[in-house]
Amino acid sequence: MKPAAFHYHAPKTVDEAVALLAEVAPQDGRILAGGQSLVPTMAFRLAKPTHLVDINGVEALNRLTVAGGKLVIGACVRHAAFHHPVCDGPLGKLLSAVVRHIAHYPIRNRGTFCGSLANADPASEWALVLSALDGEVLAKSARGERVIAARDFFKGIMTTALRDDELIVEVRLPLLSADTRCGFYEFSRRAGDFALAAALGVYRLEGGKIAEPRLALGGVEVNPRRIAEAERALVGAAPGDQAFRAAAAAAAAAADPMEDAINSAEFRRDLVLAVARRALERAAE
Ligand SMILES: Cc1cc2nc3c(=O)[nH]c(=O)nc-3n(C[C@H](O)[C@H](O)[C@H](O)COP(=O)(O)OP(=O)(O)OC[C@H]3O[C@@H](n4cnc5c(N)ncnc54)[C@H](O)[C@@H]3O)c2cc1C
Repeated sequence: MKPAAFHYHAPKTVDEAVALLAEVAPQDGRILAGGQSLVPTMAFRLAKPTHLVDINGVEALNRLTVAGGKLVIGACVRHAAFHHPVCDGPLGKLLSAVVRHIAHYPIRNRGTFCGSLANADPASEWALVLSALDGEVLAKSARGERVIAARDFFKGIMTTALRDDELIVEVRLPLLSADTRCGFYEFSRRAGDFALAAALGVYRLEGGKIAEPRLALGGVEVNPRRIAEAERALVGAAPGDQAFRAAAAAAAAAADPMEDAINSAEFRRDLVLAVARRALERAAE
């Protein structure tokens, strides 16, 4: 099938983009970023936006920089930008380890970090990273700007706190200190598929004990989130099999897994035991 007819707009500045969006959002106008989620749904006519505001010509949205202790990722930065570390230290390495799990090479060359967040698939790897690290989203509309914390951004399957007339201008992730350890693990049936369950573990060591642990799950619940019960099981523990299994068990017990026609909630809960433990093991390597 081919998409239904739509009007195409190609702004050159952020102000032009948000002015256009304000005008067309009430008529189901949408932002077009990498098009890797939106265009297939248009081709199947699951989405029929009447207007597309294509932000690919807005040079200012290609920004990928470090400022104020944060990595700033503009709305047009592609997944492929992260194939190599984009910043020094553990954050750059983490992002380049995670990106390889997103879809396939051609999709990574077009799809954007911010588009992935706006799309809010429960299994989005970038959504998991944003949640685990408590990143921020800068949203702009003709009415002004606001910063949305990760924990307030995702509102259910493919649903976010963004208003129809808001553009994600950039996402900000905190840089990680040199002694931060990170491990990511996901399970999908075929390489490139969306994960059925994924985990990201982050911690530091203080006197040989785990400090400031973060353990977040993706693809398990309707939105990725940090699991406080698992983090409590880690804090102050010696890194190793016992602590990692205890944290994974706490995560599995605390999770409220989705189910679908193929995967039961219990299957996903079982996957949490494996992905959470393996993410923590990778962090310890
Ligand atoms: C076969 C296949 C496999 C895939 N596998 C994975 C995977 O394993 N993991 C994964 O995370 N993703 C996967 N994806 C999705 C891919 O990562 C998309 O690129 C991404 O989800 C959307 O980014 P995009 O830039 O292409 O957004 P688009 O498709 O252009 O837009 C998606 C939605 O977000 C909105 N949007 C986009 N950018 C903004 C913005 N700056 N502000 C406000 N709204 C915005 C659009 O209006 C639209 O509603 C897969 C896609 C395909 C086709």
